[in-house]
Amino acid sequence: CGVFGIYAPEENVAKLTYFGLYALQHRGQESAGIATFDGENCYCYKDMGLVSQVFNESILSNLTGQIAVGHTRYSTTGSSLQANAQPAVIDTRLGKLALAHNGNLVNAVDLRTELIKRDCQFITTTDSEMIAIMMGSEVDRGKDWLDAAISAFSWCKGAYSLVIATPQGVIGARDPNGIRPLVIGALEEENVTRYVLASETCALDIIGAEYLRDVEPGEMVWITEEGLSSYHWATPDQKLCVFEMIYFARPDSIVGNESLYAYRLRLGEQLAKESMVDVDLVMGVPDSGIPAAIGYSRQSGITYQEGLIKNRYVGRTFIQPTQHMREHGIKMKLNPLKDVLDGKRILIIDDSIVRGTTSRKIVRALRDAGATEVHMKISSPPVTHPCFYGIDTDSQDHLIAAKMSVKEIEKQIEVDSLSYLSEEGMLMVTKENPLHFCTACFNGNYPITIPDEIKRSKLI
Ligand code: 5GP
Ligand code: SF4
Ligand code: MG
Repeated sequence: CGVFGIYAPEENVAKLTYFGLYALQHRGQESAGIATFDGENCYCYKDMGLVSQVFNESILSNLTGQIAVGHTRYSTTGSSLQANAQPAVIDTRLGKLALAHNGNLVNAVDLRTELIKRDCQFITTTDSEMIAIMMGSEVDRGKDWLDAAISAFSWCKGAYSLVIATPQGVIGARDPNGIRPLVIGALEEENVTRYVLASETCALDIIGAEYLRDVEPGEMVWITEEGLSSYHWATPDQKLCVFEMIYFARPDSIVGNESLYAYRLRLGEQLAKESMVDVDLVMGVPDSGIPAAIGYSRQSGITYQEGLIKNRYVGRTFIQPTQHMREHGIKMKLNPLKDVLDGKRILIIDDSIVRGTTSRKIVRALRDAGATEVHMKISSPPVTHPCFYGIDTDSQDHLIAAKMSVKEIEKQIEVDSLSYLSEEGMLMVTKENPLHFCTACFNGNYPITIPDEIKRSKLI
């Protein structure tokens, strides 16, 4: 999911939030929503669909106020329903609160049990709404906004990057492992600094805000009329999702002082250092495989060329929830360039293979367009384990590398050869401490303990 939050009295915050969400559309395409506050009133509009389909000028003009939070949804828990769209808006003793969540809790069951004990009512099936209700319940027991938020976080296990709007200000927080990203930006207006929160820096760029820093793992920031204050409520142990680096986040977003484009180029260079192949052309699967393909070309000297053209107006195939939709998505999306491919030996690079269905279709399309050999390299290791922290990599029995060897996958996706980047290589070319990443989908080392009943639902 994508989240965005802002406090800016003289600006049209709903519009800024709209543009922020627009830049975070890649993080979720099922639903979009914005909640604003003007003094005591809260206005919320959310619906199924893309940001541009959900909102128009007239809807945005009704979302008045100086405080806003927004969300683009990618369903992991709770099905793809309108009721599950965010922000979640809750009534409390101190007024409404509106919460937008990126991540996934692994102990939603405990939270639910506790909330039932407390006689709380809920409308949806999402872990996100339960965080909001828990915070509301803590407020109703007498805590102020900040203490209530910290109490609610202490009930949560799993991944959560949150933006929470109240009548007084906006809270931004990350779980102690900082699995999902959350950044702080500053909007300078006539010598007054206004603060913005967003999943990625690309959402700051689009509204002209300057990237200040990340919200730290286990940190909560509180943005009000007085500016920004920070609270470290838990001991940090950073485990940023390495899939954000490899695939999920936009290449123009900044992580660790550089764009992810720069990191993905180095993944391709590293791939070339680890394994060479004799081909005429190297190309990337648009868009996510392209930076690594360029890096591979630089390092190997093999000519880079585009061979597949993507229709940019078809959504990410992966994000659509059913296998059937996924299988039909791909033909609409990629079209091979026959005059580039005809008679050529091709190396095609992609960021990952999850189920292998996309890859096989791409390989077939390249051969149909005249490629004489098709080799594939992947700029990350084999995905062998499911994610429980907010990326829908499906259950383990759908992960092709959980069941098959590289040789068997080679056959299954019909390539002449296949190889993956090593886990060491993937981590070595980051500019951060390799221990600061979650890599569980490549090795099963889950940094946050998964309760057995949840594990059983997704592991073979
Ligand atoms: P597959 O061959 O496994 O069917 O599809 C792999 C492709 O799906 C890659 O091009 C990758 O960019 C894309 N993809 C889309 N969404 C995701 C995701 O959430 N995780 C991963 N690992 N890959 C995804
Ligand atoms: Fe990211 Fe994989 Fe860890 Fe999930 S399991 S948070 S996708 S690295
Ligand atoms: Mg891709």
